[in-house]
Amino acid sequence: MYFCSKKRLEDKIKTFSTFGATQNGGITRYSLSKEAHQARDEFKRRMEKIGAQVYTDDLANMYAILKGDGTKKEKIVMASHLDSVKNGGNYDGVLGVLSAMEVLETIHDQNIPHHHDLVAMVWTNEEGSLYPPAMMCSAILSYEDLPSSFKDCFVEETLLNSRSVLNPNETFKDALEASPYKGDKKNRLNKKDYLAMFELHIEQGPILTNNHNDIGVVTCVLGMCNYRIKIYGESDHAGTTPMKYRKDALYAASKVLLYLHEQLDKLPKDLVYTTGEIICQPNVHTVIPSYVEFSLDARHENPDVIKEVVKIIHSLPNEVEKCRVKPVLAWERDTVYFNKTLVDYVLKASEALGYTHQYINSGAGHDAQMISYVLPTTMIFVPSKDGHSHCEIEHTPLENCEKGVNILLNAVLTCDKNFEK
Ligand SMILES: [Zn+2]
Repeated sequence: MYFCSKKRLEDKIKTFSTFGATQNGGITRYSLSKEAHQARDEFKRRMEKIGAQVYTDDLANMYAILKGDGTKKEKIVMASHLDSVKNGGNYDGVLGVLSAMEVLETIHDQNIPHHHDLVAMVWTNEEGSLYPPAMMCSAILSYEDLPSSFKDCFVEETLLNSRSVLNPNETFKDALEASPYKGDKKNRLNKKDYLAMFELHIEQGPILTNNHNDIGVVTCVLGMCNYRIKIYGESDHAGTTPMKYRKDALYAASKVLLYLHEQLDKLPKDLVYTTGEIICQPNVHTVIPSYVEFSLDARHENPDVIKEVVKIIHSLPNEVEKCRVKPVLAWERDTVYFNKTLVDYVLKASEALGYTHQYINSGAGHDAQMISYVLPTTMIFVPSKDGHSHCEIEHTPLENCEKGVNILLNAVLTCDKNFEK
C-alpha cells in the first residue's frame, strides 16, 4: 500500500482556504472570480513543480497531467471543483482537487511506477452559484450521452448564456472570455482518451460521522424528480374583497403543500423531498396573490418509490380553494450507478488499509454523476463533521482527509494496473 504526505496535504488545505476567505472561516469563491483564479494559479504552480503539464479546455476546465510509462494510451482522471457557494466551506469540492494533487505529488515524490497518464482535474462552475445551473461544465462534456429526460436542461449554447445572479448584464460566456484559463476545445475530457474518473468528496451529510466510519464507498447517485406546482388564483384588493369571494393562490398553495407532505410521509422513510423555492405574484402586501408556483424535489434510489411520488403529485385535485392547480414535471432522472469494478477498488483499498467503511449513496449531485454517462466512474466519501456542508463551519478532520487520499491513491494505482474498459 502507498501513503500520502499528511503534512503536505494540510499545507494545501490551509493555503487554498485563503482564496476567498470569509470572516467566519469559510470561503466565497464563485467560479471564474478573482479568488477562483488565485486558487487556479496555485493549482498550476504546484502541479508544474512536480513536472505535470497543465492544459485547459474551452470551458476553462483544468487538467494537470503526470505522464505514465508510455505503455498505455488512455488517461485516468481524478477530478472535483474549486468553486464554492456563497459563504461555503473549505472542503466541498476543493478537497477532491487537493486530494488529486496530493496523489500526483506522492507518486512523483516516491517515484511510484504507473502505466497510464494520471490527471488531476478542476471542473469549472460546479456549484453554479453565480452562473446557474450546477454541474454545468461536466454536463456540457457529457451532453451526447445524457438521458433524454434531462438532456434539454444542458444545451451548451443556453448554458453559455447563463446570466450572473449578481449582474444580469454579464453571462458565463463573458466570464470565460475574460479568463486566462480559457483553452482549446480539443483538450476536453472524452471517451477516447480517458479510461476512468475518480472523485473524492465530502459526504455533506451525517451518515459517516454518526456511524463512526472513515470512508464512504459510494455506489450511486440517487434518482430524482423535480416538479413545479403551479396554482392559479385571482388578484383583488386585500381590504375590499370579503373572504368568501377570494381566489387566494397562496392560501391554496399552502394547503397543497401540506397535502403533499402528509402523503409523501407515508412512503419509505429514506425518501427525501424539498420545497425550496416559491414564487408569489404579484407579491404585494395589499393584493390577494393571483399566482403561486413552488418547487418539489424528491430523491430516492428505487425508481418505484419515485413513481409513487409522481403518483401522489398527480393525485392533487384540479381545484383547491377555488384556485386551479397544475403540477408540471421540470425534469427527472433515474439513479446513476457507479462502475462496479471501480467501486470494488475503493472497497478493497479500505479493507487493506484497515479503515472503517461502509457502502453509501449520494443524495447530492456531483460532476462524477455526469461523467458516469461517459466513462467508468466512481466516488469516495469522507465524513462531514456533524453533517454540515455548504456553510462556513463545514469541516472534515485532517486525519479523515488523509485517509481519503490514501484510498484514492491506492484505488487509482489498482485501476492503472488492472482496469480495462
Ligand atoms: Zn461539491
